[in-house]
Amino acid sequence: MDPNSIVFTSFTVRDIRWPTSLDNIGTDPMNLAGENSFGYLQYTTSVDGLVGTGWSFANGQGNDVLCTAIKSLAPRLIGRTLGSLIKNMGVTQRKLQSGQIRFMSPERGVLQLATCAVLNAVWDLWAKAEKKPLWRLVADFTPEEFVRVIDFRYLSDVLTPEQALEMLREQEKTKQDRLKEALANDAVPAYNTSAGWLGHSDDKVRELLVDAVKQGFRHFKLKAGLGLETDRKRLGFVREVVGKEGILMVDVNQIWDVDEAIEYMKQLSDIGIWFIEEPTSPDDILGHAKIRAALKPYGMGVATGEHVNNRVMFKQLLQAKAIDAVQLDALRLASVNEILAVLLMSAKFGVPVVPHSGGAGMVELCSHISTIDYVVVSGKKSILEYTDHLHEVFEAPAAVTKNGTHVTPTVPGYSCDVKEAQFAEFECPNGTFWKSEMGQKMVNDPWRGTLGEQTS
Ligand SMILES: [Mg+2]
Repeated sequence: MDPNSIVFTSFTVRDIRWPTSLDNIGTDPMNLAGENSFGYLQYTTSVDGLVGTGWSFANGQGNDVLCTAIKSLAPRLIGRTLGSLIKNMGVTQRKLQSGQIRFMSPERGVLQLATCAVLNAVWDLWAKAEKKPLWRLVADFTPEEFVRVIDFRYLSDVLTPEQALEMLREQEKTKQDRLKEALANDAVPAYNTSAGWLGHSDDKVRELLVDAVKQGFRHFKLKAGLGLETDRKRLGFVREVVGKEGILMVDVNQIWDVDEAIEYMKQLSDIGIWFIEEPTSPDDILGHAKIRAALKPYGMGVATGEHVNNRVMFKQLLQAKAIDAVQLDALRLASVNEILAVLLMSAKFGVPVVPHSGGAGMVELCSHISTIDYVVVSGKKSILEYTDHLHEVFEAPAAVTKNGTHVTPTVPGYSCDVKEAQFAEFECPNGTFWKSEMGQKMVNDPWRGTLGEQTS
């Protein structure tokens, strides 16, 4: 289909929230209750039935703010052709991040999430127009086409377009081999987080872990940070269940000061932990570097990234040698454009990309991203988080194979489409769930998710 003949004609933005907190999904030491939510954008086009879908993620309250931000950006594309936007996606990204609205918070905050939703819709439409899953659209780019989707502003001190081209051309030589692995669902090993939510009882964690081991998982991530005694007890039996070969990761979701993180984690060093995730403020680049240097002699690494809002922060985390895994979030950066820039920088610094995908729909999107990383950019197998909730709500759901690898997406697009029936129940505030007594209680509690204050 000729992209120059596809015109963006109108859009809708909907607020959809699933009451995930009722199953303890997503509970961690910082968030007592979270409802996986999307600011859900759809563009209709001049081609009958061809719709571009993009969304960004929120955790319940605040999703109305996200939807408002998307509504402020989305009109910019009306009347444009797909061809004019994809001719140079780096320029399209820069334009979306320019103008009066940039003042609100340049390339970060809720407007960055809105930019992500708008650009996700463009990428989804592009891939649908080409009748390819998004990862394949990108894998079929020439190195020159790949580089053209990136805005290199602020990056050229560590990565220039010329250096990126050289890296991509080098990987081109062996790309066909990795493409075959992708087509055989063998490009992206999975790791399991579903067992590790903080709200689960020990028995529930044990049961879920045993299942995960049977499913072929070898990497497991657990929430921690409830006190040394509690953590030692839980991590101790987790180690028992997953055996010596199981690779353990621990996530505390930002609760510590820098020195506190160092002291705490030293005392868990005998358990064998690959990395501590989000030990402190996600903005504290030098703090992460200090923790990493201090824990290195104990055989433990540091990871962060799910709250890193743009390529500049990732650049600095890499420059400061602050992380052992780049945990980019597909809904936190400015869509595929900016993600590709981060993949390239990570490969240049030799740090594996282990995307964050603990929320609804993130696995759907990240299975494209991790496939691109392996096939096109790094050429090295990494791992991708797999959580088993809410896949059934998607038109093209993510899945894992019996061997514990992610199924490579096959449906054209960016796997963003949510089944229409979900909106009748979960659109906020008028879906049947949110109109129910329980839904009303939850939505009207201004302290929902706050320890000691939540009343619903
Ligand atoms: Mg995390």
